[in-house]
Amino acid sequence: MFKAFLIKYAEIGVKGKNRYLFEDALIHQMKMALKNCEGAFLIHKTQGRIYVEAQGEFDYEETVERLKRVFGISSICPVVYVEDEGFEKLCSTVVSYFGQVHPDCAETFKVNARRARKDYPKESMEINAGLGEAILNAYPKMRVDVREPKIVVNVEIREKIYIYSLEIPGPGGMPVGTGGKAMLLLSGGIDSPVAGYMIAKRGVKIDAVYFHAPPYTSEWAKQKVVDLARKVARYTGPVYLHVINFTDIQLYIYEKCPHEELTILMRRYMMRIAEQIAVQTGCLGLITGESIGQVASQTMSSLVATNEVCNLPVYRPLIGFDKQEIVELSQKIGTFETSILPYEDCCTIFVAKHPVTKPNLNVIRRHEHNLDEKIEELVRTALETDELIIVEADGYGK
Ligand code: ATP
Ligand code: MG
Repeated sequence: MFKAFLIKYAEIGVKGKNRYLFEDALIHQMKMALKNCEGAFLIHKTQGRIYVEAQGEFDYEETVERLKRVFGISSICPVVYVEDEGFEKLCSTVVSYFGQVHPDCAETFKVNARRARKDYPKESMEINAGLGEAILNAYPKMRVDVREPKIVVNVEIREKIYIYSLEIPGPGGMPVGTGGKAMLLLSGGIDSPVAGYMIAKRGVKIDAVYFHAPPYTSEWAKQKVVDLARKVARYTGPVYLHVINFTDIQLYIYEKCPHEELTILMRRYMMRIAEQIAVQTGCLGLITGESIGQVASQTMSSLVATNEVCNLPVYRPLIGFDKQEIVELSQKIGTFETSILPYEDCCTIFVAKHPVTKPNLNVIRRHEHNLDEKIEELVRTALETDELIIVEADGYGK
């Protein structure tokens, strides 16, 4: 029944010249999202509105699901369009539309007509009144309320006539690509994919880096991170995932430094390496899934120690979230199921029984000097053996 979608987007902050950039980026992201979708679509901008028009058969559920993942969309309105065959015919069409879309409905409504084509023989007010009456006659349980109606039946008179009354919420945010690019430190856990999602929602393109430690971490753990990146890519488009072999650095720290500081020292080297890749690839910030107090390496003092080694801003969108709130978000965005699969984390293998929770920066710096002999070379090798995987989105279902 539906042939098209009207796409609504929030207009705050997209006035003037930026508006076109915003709209063009949004259309680009929508095209990418629908690229592998069943059916062909024409996406166009007319009079300050964006329409997605199906060219023939298409899968309604899939199309809606995919559009629900395009940041910048505030809502998706499925549209029926009909030829202009006179007002009588329009009345019967709207009545049958209403019966199908809102069956057994006993709510308040109003008709909201818009003449985009001024040669239509009736004024908007007349159209509203005529169509309203037709609906009331056909569905006596309905009532008109022009102030706060539950249902608004929109009728737009163009070359064809567009009818819509449903509004499916979109994800909000800004189209990916309007806000630059950042490097996500992506581990196999629950938090980091959610952190990437949140920053991408503000229009930021996401690259990612994963540190693995073979043979202490398996191919399977790496595959899990790739799978998570696929889920993130549903929202962001293809993710450039850098896989860095961290084993030798980790073993060297283990050999040279106190074990209760191992995690903090490892985190400092992860940040340094991530920043180097970020700078080389044009990223303007780092993103982590850290949240204050979640684990020993995320106390305020520990964050001072990890933050110190970075010059780029480090975005930590989950910083004030409880674990339960993060879990709920990860369920909502579809990463949770993958995140909870069992895996070995390169941090947990070497983890000390009693890691420091209040690392002293001077002590950390001093112990880091134990690494002076070989660390530069190890970091260089890790960067040189960077394995780049371009991760495309997986399907649209669970
Ligand atoms: P997550 O659920 O994201 O794995 P976590 O609770 O396990 O987080 P930590 O292990 O302390 O927390 O890691 C904090 C952050 O550091 C992660 O959210 C992630 O951004 C980054 N990080 C940790 N381990 C890795 C790794 N092996 N590769 C890339 N980034 C990592
Ligand atoms: Mg982790």
